[in-house]
Amino acid sequence: MTEREVRVRFAPSPTGPLHIGGVRTALYNYLLARKLGGKMLLRIEDTDQNRFVPGAENYILEALAWCGIVIDEGVGPGGPHAPYRQSERKPMYKQYADQLIASGHAYYAFDTPEELDAMRARLQAAKVPNPQYNSITRAQMRNSLTLPEDEVKQLLDSGTPYVIRLKVPRKEEVRFQDLIRGWVVVHSSAIDDKVLMKSDGMPTYHLANIVDDHLMEISHVIRGEEWLPSAPLHVLLYRYLGWESTMPQFAHLPLLLKPDGTGKLSKRDGDKLGFPVFPLEWHGTDAETGEPTLSRGYREDGYLPEAFINFLAFLGWNPGSQQEIFSMEELIEAFSIERVSKSPARFDQNKVKWYNEHYLRAKSNAELAPYLLTALAEHGIACSPEKAEQIVGVMKERVSFPNDFWQEAKYFFQAPDSYDEQVVSKKWNPQVAAALAAYADALAGAAEPTAEALKGLFNQTIEAQGLKPGQVLQALRVAVTGAGAGPDLFETLVILGVAEVAARLRAAVATLTLS
Ligand code: GLU
Repeated sequence: MTEREVRVRFAPSPTGPLHIGGVRTALYNYLLARKLGGKMLLRIEDTDQNRFVPGAENYILEALAWCGIVIDEGVGPGGPHAPYRQSERKPMYKQYADQLIASGHAYYAFDTPEELDAMRARLQAAKVPNPQYNSITRAQMRNSLTLPEDEVKQLLDSGTPYVIRLKVPRKEEVRFQDLIRGWVVVHSSAIDDKVLMKSDGMPTYHLANIVDDHLMEISHVIRGEEWLPSAPLHVLLYRYLGWESTMPQFAHLPLLLKPDGTGKLSKRDGDKLGFPVFPLEWHGTDAETGEPTLSRGYREDGYLPEAFINFLAFLGWNPGSQQEIFSMEELIEAFSIERVSKSPARFDQNKVKWYNEHYLRAKSNAELAPYLLTALAEHGIACSPEKAEQIVGVMKERVSFPNDFWQEAKYFFQAPDSYDEQVVSKKWNPQVAAALAAYADALAGAAEPTAEALKGLFNQTIEAQGLKPGQVLQALRVAVTGAGAGPDLFETLVILGVAEVAARLRAAVATLTLS
């Protein structure tokens, strides 16, 4: 037997922004495709027109591109199975529903919404726990299994609205092997007679999904756990359509939980938990008030895509070693479905920040300088690229996000207008002030302003004043920067320049001595 070509698909519905769970699904599909030399497809499942949200498809494309997940075939690059939007494939599905009717695996149902409500009410009154249209209840409904043939024909000819439902067998075990969960066995009595075609001629998710996976020759279906209950129904569809021998292999990914483990991380948790649940910012509309809404995104919050992806990869997978830092290439190399866990993964806000710090610090000063330069330009402050590089160089161990550079490095451009009060109350006294004034004078003669040289000069000056350098160090920092903590102090002085440092020291001595 020749090995089957690996073809996986990410098949989101454009019902809103892509949740981080969706990005993880796309990522695992992509990693498997790349690892096994296969193809990654993007199909847009937009058969539910009521839930369609304008802008969602563009958002999906932009989010995948930002993450570095490359689509080989589908919406975007196109391909031999175009179109890849299900709404544009509408005419293709009916023949398969007809085939199922002809083979006795599906039927027409003419029940009106009122009749369906009445059935549910009847079943509820009889204390049936989960009222469904299924192998038992269908016998009391108006469908092509219960109505005489000529009446069915007459209803169809007269254009009476109908849906097509799958005829799920009453007593059968449906089983399939999930690559993550092993054998999954479901009794058919637990499956309802799902609608395959709606009265407007649009297929439902179930029919369109199976037909497209078959026509697009998908080898692996990797998707979220929420689709596990649909999988037995999908297996039946493959069987009844005669496609079981090429049915894709299923892999249902573990749930993503809130940080405290109390439940599924949902789109609505969003900003409430204090971290974004979307890759990119999303401008939406409040369903109740119609007011515009804004949901935070990892990109706009200052996360680097490498950090975001590395973090997501570990939400449900691990390499089986201690290594935590993986580039996309390394993830592709290390990834396997066998190492995806069955148990839910907890979101960890500190971990994603940790990854961001790691990737930020791994960047060169030249790569980071533009973040600072952009913020400076926004504040109308001029700065040479060389100076910006020096500043990000000393700051990068102290920041978590590129946007922090300006906040943390302000004092390189603005003399302090206040001084950390705690440090002042503990470290400032007339002797210290006099020592700093002496240092200000000494700086004027600092021929070679390197960090080393400025430190040597400081130690010398302070000792000459009868103090220990350690007694004055924090006062020096607060006088020059206003803050009680910061990056290497003497590097900071070098970047500021001796004249500026001397001026700031004199200003601090004057201000703090008066107060
Ligand atoms: N359209 C479904 C979704 O929005 C796809 C599920 C699947 O991958 O089969 O997630």
